[in-house]
Amino acid sequence: MNHIARRRFDCLVIGAGGAGLRAALQLAAAEAHVAVVSKVFPTRSHTVAAQGGINAALGNVQPDNWHWHMYDTVKGGDYLADQDAVEYMCRAAAKLVIELEHYGVPFTRLPNGRIYQRPFGGQSQNFGGAQAARTCAAADRTGHAMLHALYQQNLKARTHFFDEFFVIDLLTDAEGYCLGALVLEIETGEPLVIEARTTLIATGGAGQLYRTTTNALINTGDGMAMALRAGLPLQDMEFMQFHPTGIAGLGVLISEGARGEGGYLVNSRGERFMERYAPHAKDLASRDVVSRAIYTEIKEGRGCGPKQDHMLLKLDHLGADTITKRLPGIRELARRFAHVDPIEQPIPVLPTAHYTMGGIPTNRFGQVAVPVHTGPEEPVPGLYAVGECACVSIHGANRLGGNSLLDIIVFGRAAGNHMFEYLSENRFYRPMPETAIERAMTRLARWDKKGEGESVDCLRDALRKTMEDYCGVFRTREVLEEGVRQVEALVRRLADARLKDHSKIFNTARIEALELENLMDVALATVHSAVAREESRGAHSRLDYPKRDDVKWLRHSLYFREGRKLDYKPVRMKPMSVESFPPVERVY
Ligand SMILES: Cc1cc2nc3c(=O)[nH]c(=O)nc-3n(C[C@H](O)[C@H](O)[C@H](O)COP(=O)(O)OP(=O)(O)OC[C@H]3O[C@@H](n4cnc5c(N)ncnc54)[C@H](O)[C@@H]3O)c2cc1C
Repeated sequence: MNHIARRRFDCLVIGAGGAGLRAALQLAAAEAHVAVVSKVFPTRSHTVAAQGGINAALGNVQPDNWHWHMYDTVKGGDYLADQDAVEYMCRAAAKLVIELEHYGVPFTRLPNGRIYQRPFGGQSQNFGGAQAARTCAAADRTGHAMLHALYQQNLKARTHFFDEFFVIDLLTDAEGYCLGALVLEIETGEPLVIEARTTLIATGGAGQLYRTTTNALINTGDGMAMALRAGLPLQDMEFMQFHPTGIAGLGVLISEGARGEGGYLVNSRGERFMERYAPHAKDLASRDVVSRAIYTEIKEGRGCGPKQDHMLLKLDHLGADTITKRLPGIRELARRFAHVDPIEQPIPVLPTAHYTMGGIPTNRFGQVAVPVHTGPEEPVPGLYAVGECACVSIHGANRLGGNSLLDIIVFGRAAGNHMFEYLSENRFYRPMPETAIERAMTRLARWDKKGEGESVDCLRDALRKTMEDYCGVFRTREVLEEGVRQVEALVRRLADARLKDHSKIFNTARIEALELENLMDVALATVHSAVAREESRGAHSRLDYPKRDDVKWLRHSLYFREGRKLDYKPVRMKPMSVESFPPVERVY
């Protein structure tokens, strides 16, 4: 094993999306020696695709305050969110959004020069009153502006980047310390050991589990699977968000900002059907509510088009001026992918897989924290997780639009601060056991055997179709159990799959195979957690258990890879300084 090259850093950040870059910036600015590893060039991370915006109770358009934001977030998450983390996030939001502006994010402005804010789903004034306008946006390209600004700030702070390096596995010692990771340089296929005193996982979500998704091809849940293989659990994986407005048949996202600007959904009769499902919030009800309403309309025969299989999103009444100024990217996407110009025609839409609410369990400092023998949580020494791959949990059972860009900024910064403290208390590198490197190398070696066998591509397609058919918006025990059987069968088939012997594409093919292994592990976590939860809460909607059950199920699930074991832990109901919001019926 001695021939594997090694590098040493104070901190290793896996992932160069908004979460990884915000944490790295905090560390580099404090003069820690930071490595950021990303399998794609940093500014191609999925954060770049975020359209609608980032929430902060600035009160620039309507009266607002962080406490109302906190209420909306807890209610939006169907009371499964940890309220200390939600309070922390909502309190920090205004300061950190303004800080982003100072980093160079060109937020859209009001005529008086303040940051423009648009209404988004699930936002209210005064604890459930009138619609609030809380989402700050740079037109409809907010994530793009944020990611580029953060990347440039990191260059200035001298963060060290490993661009187009794929992380294979975490390296841990017998006492459970994380000592870094084994990575693969994609271009050359050479492995490299990166040793670090502290490691942050910021690898994003797993939207590629589904055939129809808004997520990029790279969102394969790699970090979540690494955590599982290191013996750590994943939390609340049964909660996958389906965004109500993907372009029908393709899944390409039409931002909630389109409805925030005044767009609305109609069925084949031209009815604004959301008035019936959410009389108060209408089209700006929470995403889980709108997605279910769309499928119910279709099931009852009011779908649009020759196959009656989608709804229409109407924007034409907003006028060409608003559409070109506030939603230019949406117009471009609609023209290119749906062949309609929203200035004149409605866009055909259908729910599409969008966001992974579950992930690696952490506390509000970004420390990976797991209950020990179902006792209190204990941090895993040196290991942190932030962003879509993590579960703090602020999104609970359903994330509100605009809260994820906020999540990555707030907890990226918090993790950076905590990691810096950790460095001062842990001044020395712990010895790296060779067995850890060997174990990670066997994952690579497995794909050196080439020849006949099922193809990775076929299995990936089969997995995505299975998840769509058996773990979608509406669920029952029967359907989910079939999903478990089918995913387990695919996992077995993957063991016999082989790469074809094309040496030219060899390296990318090998990475796709490793990504599929990761997706399989995350799929198992999702279906097993979903069968077990016998209630309907947020995005997890069981036709056989249509009600929320706070007595039995007001708790987080924890799935372990070993033995497909499930465990549960209580929701942290106690905020930091205010009264908690006890669960009540959730209506919009
Ligand atoms: C189309 C779209 C629109 C959205 N719009 C909004 C919005 O308007 N507002 C909002 O709040 N949220 C929005 N979201 C959600 C939000 O953008 C994401 O949840 C958030 O940006 C995730 O950031 P992240 O840093 O956790 O991960 P990502 O930005 O996904 O970054 C993950 C990083 O990890 C790296 N990585 C992954 N695996 C490996 C590996 N094995 N080895 C090396 N590197 C690896 C990748 O290269 C990448 O750099 C949107 C999401 C999508 C898909």
